[in-house]
Amino acid sequence: MTTLDDLPIRDDLRGLTPYGAPQLDVPVRLNTNENSYPVPEPVVEAIGKALSAELRDLNRYPDRDAVALRADLAEYLGHGLTVDQVWAANGSNEIQQQLLQAFGGPGRTALGFTPAYSMHPLLALGTGTGWIPAARDADFGLTAADAVAQVRAHRPDVVFLCSPNNPTGTALDPAVVAAVLAEAPGMVIVDEAYAEFARPGTVSALAVLPGHPRLVVTRTMSKAFGFAGGRLGYLAADPAVVRAVQLVRLPYHLSALTQAAARAALAHRDALLGTVAAIMEQRDRIVAELRARGHRVADSDANFVLFEVGGDRQLGLGASDAAPRPGAVDQAAAWRTLLDAGVLVRDVGLPGWLRVTAGTPAETDAFLSAMEKLS
Ligand code: PMP
Repeated sequence: MTTLDDLPIRDDLRGLTPYGAPQLDVPVRLNTNENSYPVPEPVVEAIGKALSAELRDLNRYPDRDAVALRADLAEYLGHGLTVDQVWAANGSNEIQQQLLQAFGGPGRTALGFTPAYSMHPLLALGTGTGWIPAARDADFGLTAADAVAQVRAHRPDVVFLCSPNNPTGTALDPAVVAAVLAEAPGMVIVDEAYAEFARPGTVSALAVLPGHPRLVVTRTMSKAFGFAGGRLGYLAADPAVVRAVQLVRLPYHLSALTQAAARAALAHRDALLGTVAAIMEQRDRIVAELRARGHRVADSDANFVLFEVGGDRQLGLGASDAAPRPGAVDQAAAWRTLLDAGVLVRDVGLPGWLRVTAGTPAETDAFLSAMEKLS
């Protein structure tokens, strides 16, 4: 059998294996921060109609610039945004890849504060952008002073901020975004994939866009909208940033079907976003219940919760060091125990910690009862 090593593959890809969370067929899947609720029937019908209206014209290429969809997205975001400040692609992963193609690339660097979204370094790898792993505090927090010091030390071409942060779940203090913007010599991307789940009092970086042409906010319909299979991500930024990504995007990257389905979904946003409050309730229930059982848990503004598998006292994260304590439970073994109980969660590679998605009340019940098997 031919192996990759037999091929003239890029040196920096040699020896690597494809990345991705396990897609296992288990009763309770809480590992990829999807929205557990299926698309409601009236929305299924509306999307079906929108798709069938496109079918006869599939002999033609779609609108290369997805103008109608971008106008809908701008209207959804508010903040006075207009179509020329919004760009859409197949998931926010593709948006971020396009941003790195335009602003990163060979000879350039991107910096992120780990632990953060694991795709950021992989998108850097794929685009030939050097990756600089900057650090968060021992309790996974990030202060403006720390962030600025690391940006100053490395002077990256692109900085990734993630708010609410995956895998910790906590939103950033807006002071961090402001300070990084002031210090960074290049682009600052704030990944707000989970913005709709944030607790009251958190502030979106969308509010800071005016007057900051190097700021980009990325969003997605994969989480709050429950549209992960539809693959629709987008960004808001200065119109010049949109023109920059248009230099690198593939022509017709968003199919006519994707554009039509996303527009129909956006038109029914009230029905789709109707699940957000219920998911936040389960998220808060998981946080409270795990803390009551003595686990350390990160504050969550997202649809998932990062928790320490072991734990013998009640501690809010931030009250102490998040490093594994002596005798910390091996998270890989705990992951397997939960899986054997029919509950798939995510091992994000943080020793002693696991991440669980907040879904339906029944899924929370299943997760919390599976957790009892660990003790
Ligand atoms: N950003 C973050 C922080 C995420 O967690 C995810 C999905 N796991 C994404 C971006 C990408 O989502 P999508 O490509 O589906 O928009």
